[in-house]
Amino acid sequence: MKPLHIETPLFESRALTIGAGRTVWLKLEAMQPPGSFKIRGIGLMCKECVDRGASHLVSSSGGNAGFAVAYAGRQLGVDVTVVVPKTTATDVSYRIEQEGAKLVVHGCVWDESDAFALQLSEKVNAAYISPFDHPTIWRGHSTIVDELVEGGKKPDVIILSVGGGGLLCGIMEGLERHRWEDIPIVAVETKGAASLDSSVSQGRLVKLDRISSVATSLGARRVGTKVFEYATTRPVSPVVVTDQAAINACLRFSKDHRILVEPACGAALSVVYDPVYEIKTAQSVLVIVCGGIGVNIDKLMKWKRENPTTEST
Ligand SMILES: *Cc1c(COP(=O)(O)O)cnc(C)c1O
Repeated sequence: MKPLHIETPLFESRALTIGAGRTVWLKLEAMQPPGSFKIRGIGLMCKECVDRGASHLVSSSGGNAGFAVAYAGRQLGVDVTVVVPKTTATDVSYRIEQEGAKLVVHGCVWDESDAFALQLSEKVNAAYISPFDHPTIWRGHSTIVDELVEGGKKPDVIILSVGGGGLLCGIMEGLERHRWEDIPIVAVETKGAASLDSSVSQGRLVKLDRISSVATSLGARRVGTKVFEYATTRPVSPVVVTDQAAINACLRFSKDHRILVEPACGAALSVVYDPVYEIKTAQSVLVIVCGGIGVNIDKLMKWKRENPTTEST
């Protein structure tokens, strides 16, 4: 059977290239049927679980990971339960239910939903699908690099967003497979969700007390062990941007490419719109446009109003 993800567009953005003064390539993961790159790793993991006999999948994410599991389960013809925290946006819950998944609201934050999902999966003998922390998920995400290599242009820098770190782990695995691991990575988080940056600067895995950012898809209070290892031993530079910068990048990208992406993805785009030190010497950069379904025009306008640009940004 074919994989559950599709091959996404890879092209040079004229608008971003001119703005940034260097070649900017986009890998448009926003075009995946469930709206983000997540289906690559999660799709693979769900498929392997079903191949091994699972007839029920349990996820703990009120965001793109949960939606990807719901999508995968429907494609694979198995039951899905998605445990989401109370803070989950109603339109995202609705999308998950549209895929035929059962929605269980439990906990105020993701950690609580996750613990409950793990327990539930054991109780009902279902397969638990982590949103980011599993080697199979990284292997699925690594297919992005296969497509980059097929595209034939090796960028000087790769820019991506980091939540729990599954995407970064997948990219590193793919780069190693193709002997491209010398490419420096700019790993972007928003202020208030910067668990990788805090861990790297303190030299140990840090657990944030709380998440305070509109980029909810980056809201893992602690990153995975593997991504911390990559970030401390490979050419990975954590960069932290403001919510305002991420929101502005979403708005600019909607004008440049007529595509809406979450602030989690705007964060990565923002370091190209306002070039950071880490890309100053690069002739060409590639941005993984990770996408996300937790966005619409009304939300973007509301975030913009609530996060006015100030001179301190
Ligand atoms: C999940 C997600 C991220 C972060 O990915 P991790 O694997 O958790 O680091 C970034 N952007 C979007 C849109 C996501 O759905």
